[in-house]
Amino acid sequence: MTLSRRHLLTAGSSLAALMATGLAGCATGATNPAARALAPGVLQVDLGGVLATAVSDGSLQRPVAEGFVRNASMAAVQAALRDAGLPTDQITFPYIPLLIETGGRRILIDAGNGEFSAPTTGKLLENLAKAGVAADSIDAVVFSHLHGDHINGLRNRAGALMFPKAQVYVPTPEWNWWMDDQRMNALPEAQQAAFRNVRRVFGPIAQQVRRFEPGVEVLPGLQSMPAFGHTAGHTAFVVQGRSGRKLLFWADASNVDALFVRNPDWAVQFDADPEAARQTRRRLADLAIRENMLLAGYHLSGSGIGRLAVRGSGYEFTPLSA
Ligand SMILES: [Zn+2]
Repeated sequence: MTLSRRHLLTAGSSLAALMATGLAGCATGATNPAARALAPGVLQVDLGGVLATAVSDGSLQRPVAEGFVRNASMAAVQAALRDAGLPTDQITFPYIPLLIETGGRRILIDAGNGEFSAPTTGKLLENLAKAGVAADSIDAVVFSHLHGDHINGLRNRAGALMFPKAQVYVPTPEWNWWMDDQRMNALPEAQQAAFRNVRRVFGPIAQQVRRFEPGVEVLPGLQSMPAFGHTAGHTAFVVQGRSGRKLLFWADASNVDALFVRNPDWAVQFDADPEAARQTRRRLADLAIRENMLLAGYHLSGSGIGRLAVRGSGYEFTPLSA
């Protein structure tokens, strides 16, 4: 067989034709939709009337630090990195918001780092522009949770909103957690910074922010799901195309996949409730595999959209490329 799967798919072959070639079932890739690179770091898949576009906000490299994985030794972490063909002294953290076009709306899920992190980040607007998407054409920005790397791109240092026409949506339990003054004031000063940052970003628009209970359809075609653990109101999303093809955006249900997808019981230092996060990670991974969903994640490798498969006692993420 010399034809590539992609060739078969772009040739418009049906599932029946794939079955006839013997390819269906032998590789999960056989059911992948064609992926289009709109620009470097911008990959779009067409789910059938619904477009899902992973848009890189850049990445950050950090030394591998003791304590980054709470419940694994440095040696085990380095072995996992080596196993995945990655450097063992540095970890690269990608940031990948997801643009969904459904029901005549452009919906951005999470907003990147904006002007508030390293110069290798904050690339969302630039990459959207390269893909032909103007910031003022975004109808809604929906947040998975309120950590700085997800919300800081909403408002710049001067205070201007970067998506001026977008309605903003935040999970209610997430809002309630961060906006609780009593909780904030009871913490040591250093731990109050994340709370103050949420107030900086959302305070001036608090009256306009729409809150939603995880589990509801936030906008037509955008289904939310509770995915608590990473934070108190951490939320995942599912979209479905006409063909029945589904995509799950699991946000920070896992940090970098070489560590936490392959070892789903490992806990990243950023998980607020490590045991709840572990259960969420496994529940969502099993769901994606069972329902043959494409998976997108904010800190996953490559394009940030791909497939999960079971691997040993964990999973493996394989990103799509164009
Ligand atoms: Zn994050």
